[in-house]
Amino acid sequence: MSLPTNKNGHEVRYGLPGEVRFCSRCVISNQRPNSTVEFKNSPGDSKAAIQLDDDLVCSACAYHATKEVGIDWEAREELLWKMLERYRRTDGGYDVIIPGSGGKDSAYTAHILKYKYKMNPLTVTWAPHLYTDIGWRNFTNWMHVGGLDNMLYTPNGRLHRLLTKMAVFNLMHPFQPFIIGQRIIGPAMAARFGVKLVMYGENQAEYGNSVDENNIPTMDYKFFARQDDAEPILGGEPISKILSAHPDLSLGDFAPYIPMSEASLREKNVDVHYLGYYLKWDPQECFYYAAEHTGFEPNTERTEGSYSKYSSIDDKVDPFHYYTTLLKFGIGRATYDAAQEVRNGKITREEAVALAERFDTEFPERFYPDFLEYLGTTDDELRAAFDDFRSPHLWGKDASGEWRLRHTVGGTGLDD
Ligand SMILES: [Zn+2]
Repeated sequence: MSLPTNKNGHEVRYGLPGEVRFCSRCVISNQRPNSTVEFKNSPGDSKAAIQLDDDLVCSACAYHATKEVGIDWEAREELLWKMLERYRRTDGGYDVIIPGSGGKDSAYTAHILKYKYKMNPLTVTWAPHLYTDIGWRNFTNWMHVGGLDNMLYTPNGRLHRLLTKMAVFNLMHPFQPFIIGQRIIGPAMAARFGVKLVMYGENQAEYGNSVDENNIPTMDYKFFARQDDAEPILGGEPISKILSAHPDLSLGDFAPYIPMSEASLREKNVDVHYLGYYLKWDPQECFYYAAEHTGFEPNTERTEGSYSKYSSIDDKVDPFHYYTTLLKFGIGRATYDAAQEVRNGKITREEAVALAERFDTEFPERFYPDFLEYLGTTDDELRAAFDDFRSPHLWGKDASGEWRLRHTVGGTGLDD
């Protein structure tokens, strides 16, 4: 099957828009895909992407404008108190499950629910692929300094590595096994412990899923529950196919990756809410709060591919997640960080453009040897795979044979 081409004759992959456009307010491009139902994600699937309106304003910026003036945050906090009353327990049992790593967002969510809103949370953590030193310190501080209970769930490391490798070579999506686990563990643990409320922090829709998703306080079941009998797809392949290629594995090994059915979660009355619906969400404020209350520390050096020091710093695989979004969608980590900071009024668009231009395409060298070893692959093999996943409508080679983005937000791309 031949893929579509854009007006310059370049092949367009992943169902992305053929022409690259940048938001006129932040720095995100129209190539940013919406959240995917990961356990249905197959090679060759088309992605729905963020919408830009006629004035080239992205849906994340449009939502942010309403967040500033169109939402009565005091009324929303009243709703939060009322909602929590429905789940609050007075018998000493846990009444809310909070999935997270002890990063700034989950640290804030768990601590404020316990100490301001007087809930009794159990935090649950789906282990990172490879903890960083700072990530492990922040994780333990969450309990020891923050005063919270936690269960750390670590899946079978050999299978997790295999799924990560498949996710890289089939989908160029090394973070997929982590995302799957992180989304299903909260509801699964709630069902197991008889807790009816699961609380995540911010709604991913703030960054550009369907804008309507911001107007509902709950997460769509499709992201964490099975809605039909279709076999889960992991690393781009159905479980039965993985089993036939690996006779040493059994179906039971996949237990942590198989989401519960929507029907069984509804029967147990498990609801999944976002705190970001009720309280105005600002990542930098979460950082200040976590630093003060849960012993959260930023990194001593900036994150490669960006300029930030406190977002997503607990997993050595995380920098490769953002590097692969750069390869597939032309959007690197500095762009994600800077777009969010422009919306939250921390930096100007001009500053954001300069930061994206400077850092977006930086290769994450620091943990590259660990990543190669984890995948059990070689530099040559992985770099060849990286190049295979570059969409031709986003990437080309310059006169010296170096890969260059065709279009950048600062207008310095190969074809700008
Ligand atoms: Zn925007």
